[in-house]
Amino acid sequence: MNRMRQPDATSMIVRVALPLPLPQTFDYLPGSGVAQPGCRVRVPFGHSRKVGVVLEASSQADIAIERLKPVEALLDAEPLFDAGLLADLRRAADYWCGAIGDVVFGALPLGLREGRAPPEFAEECWQATPAGRTACDARTRRGASAALLDVLGDTTWTANELDSLLPGWRAASRRLASAGLIERTHPTRDPPRVRDGATPILTDEQADALATLLSAGEGFRPCLLQGVTGSGKTEIYLRLTERAIAAGKQALWLVPEIGLVPQALRRLRARFDARIAVLHSNLAEGDRARAWLDARSGDAAIVLGTRSAVFAPLPRAGLIVVDEEHDASYKQQEGFRYHARDFALMRAQSLGVPVVLGSATPSLETLANVDAGRYTRVTLRSRVHARPPSPVHVLDLRGLQLAHGLSPALLDALDACIARGEQALVFKNRRGYAPVLMCHACGWHAACPRCEKPLTLYRGRRQLLCHHCGHGERTPETCPNCHASALIPQGQGTERLEEALVSRYPNVPVLRVDRDSTRRRDAFAKVLDKLADGKPAILVGTQMLAKGHDLPSLTTVAIVGVDEGLHSADFHAGERLAQLIVQVAGRAGRADKPGEVWLQTHEPDHPLLATLLKGGHAAATALLLGERLASELPPFAHLALLRAESRQRDALDGFMASARGALASIQRLQPQPARIRIHGPVAAPMPLRAGRHRVQLLLESTQRAPLRQALATWLPHLHALPQPRGLRWSIDVDPVDLY
Ligand code: ADP
Ligand code: ZN
Ligand code: ZN
Repeated sequence: MNRMRQPDATSMIVRVALPLPLPQTFDYLPGSGVAQPGCRVRVPFGHSRKVGVVLEASSQADIAIERLKPVEALLDAEPLFDAGLLADLRRAADYWCGAIGDVVFGALPLGLREGRAPPEFAEECWQATPAGRTACDARTRRGASAALLDVLGDTTWTANELDSLLPGWRAASRRLASAGLIERTHPTRDPPRVRDGATPILTDEQADALATLLSAGEGFRPCLLQGVTGSGKTEIYLRLTERAIAAGKQALWLVPEIGLVPQALRRLRARFDARIAVLHSNLAEGDRARAWLDARSGDAAIVLGTRSAVFAPLPRAGLIVVDEEHDASYKQQEGFRYHARDFALMRAQSLGVPVVLGSATPSLETLANVDAGRYTRVTLRSRVHARPPSPVHVLDLRGLQLAHGLSPALLDALDACIARGEQALVFKNRRGYAPVLMCHACGWHAACPRCEKPLTLYRGRRQLLCHHCGHGERTPETCPNCHASALIPQGQGTERLEEALVSRYPNVPVLRVDRDSTRRRDAFAKVLDKLADGKPAILVGTQMLAKGHDLPSLTTVAIVGVDEGLHSADFHAGERLAQLIVQVAGRAGRADKPGEVWLQTHEPDHPLLATLLKGGHAAATALLLGERLASELPPFAHLALLRAESRQRDALDGFMASARGALASIQRLQPQPARIRIHGPVAAPMPLRAGRHRVQLLLESTQRAPLRQALATWLPHLHALPQPRGLRWSIDVDPVDLY
């Protein structure tokens, strides 16, 4: 099946990455063909076989040539990864201390990891028939069928796109196809183009921004595009994408979460008649592999996806867009702990293409890069539709009587909003009914036996759940300690707020949006559908509500629990809180219906809140940057965290002591050992989780180079230490949280 090439006399071995959490590569004899770097091969490994990816051909083996085994089979005729991407993956593995095999295989879609042949391209497209368009206009269909017909009414979509827009569209497509309302078609092979009449005239501010972005010419240039929601950032991305496509190049768009894929996809499809490869974790294996290969072949003019789409091959790269660049979801929190925004920057640099980071609330890291002159900043100050910013009111909770955590003034504001016929959003970053269930008689509280943290009460399900490990138990009727019937919920979660609001507004729909209520794939979309008519309603929910989705009738936004963000062990908390307030506030009001924002707090004079209210996000970030500088924290210092956990406390402490010892001896050999500070080992902020003890060691340096040097030297020592059974450890470079 594969084309064999003549062995190359100078390259005697191939160096292969295997899907193992180990830092090294493995050498093999080339076998009967020459596998180019980036091709998959099947190789013998121990007593079994594994699929690997060839990283390079070399004339020098790590071990004696006689002991090497040959490659068994070459699985790809053409490399899956080009040389540039392979080099970037190796850089990424180095930077974030990943195992090269993990990194390379993590970059491949699941469907290609196991050595099967790449799926054949049978690209599937759907469109409405004339009868279907009539039915769509006549609104004769309901539910999923109506939704699909609506989407197919004026545009042809690929199956890959429909997977992202309408989960569960396949069942509807069978019904509609057998009724003759929709049909399968072939994708166009026409060159990508801009749809007629789809492009608005830029505002002056947008035109200036675009001119600045374009003035730097081709090549690598990182830009921050800063502007509140609705200021027209996406329109700028579209214009830059248009440029790239017109030049025959590809554009990569990253969004931080799956929920934001559909609206980006709609905007792209409304503007371009072009092939778009959509990549995220909610796709079937084969579909994802197909989309990935579509990017790799260069056929897809646009690649849109979440975090891992940053690994998509881009043979004709012309532009990278990272929307909501500040979002912590870009950081992978397990396995290979990379940051997709930062990897996007690395890739843009090696590809030599512009990269645009967009946000209303840029991260402190990015702002520091702007201040240092490394990134160009372009700002959009006003909203396209002349929406005035919403006034923010601070509600001082001190001494007030609260009803389920809601103050009288906030309830008045909600009353008025509903009376005006508008919609409100009540934000609380805590799921469940209450974060603690306590006995009023003896002080007992329900705690997780495996984490020793309070269990969250779920009243509807009569359950107590641990948010850290998933442990669950039935809610007791009486106190297990003193048997009194005196158990009372402490604090509020979204379920409790929902209950309180339902009882206060029996005739208004109260819709809860959090991870519990949106377990089903299309649940969130259904909630948004219910709000689309603009009739009075109240949304209650967590972080999920903070961004995206324009709701024209939403005018009143309340953040119920600000104080949690003011007091956290993690130094990122202040930055997150400022982002959250600005993002949530951005959801309120339109030109015709002014919005208002309410913040409930016990600390109305907290410097961060006061600065944010007076000077906006810019003033708040200046304050936060000043604090970070004074205390030598990122972005003015660089951190790496060694985390380890085990059920056996002794084994854990032993391992960490050896790790610390190894680091100390490396440090002694350094010319300037004082340049890295080592904190710990200390118990993690959450010292026990799911029955495992957790300990961490923090490395800190004001300069990147010595820290990287120390990590590179330390890592082999860590792998060489005795690894106690059941102990897990990981290194997190630039951690986004310290838990
Ligand atoms: P952002 O990405 O900053 O939230 P968008 O680009 O989505 O902003 O713009 C907000 C709204 O304004 C969208 O509905 C968009 O279609 C519209 N819009 C953007 N630019 C223009 C323009 N120049 N003329 C008319 N409408 C525009
Ligand atoms: Zn009790
Ligand atoms: Zn637990």
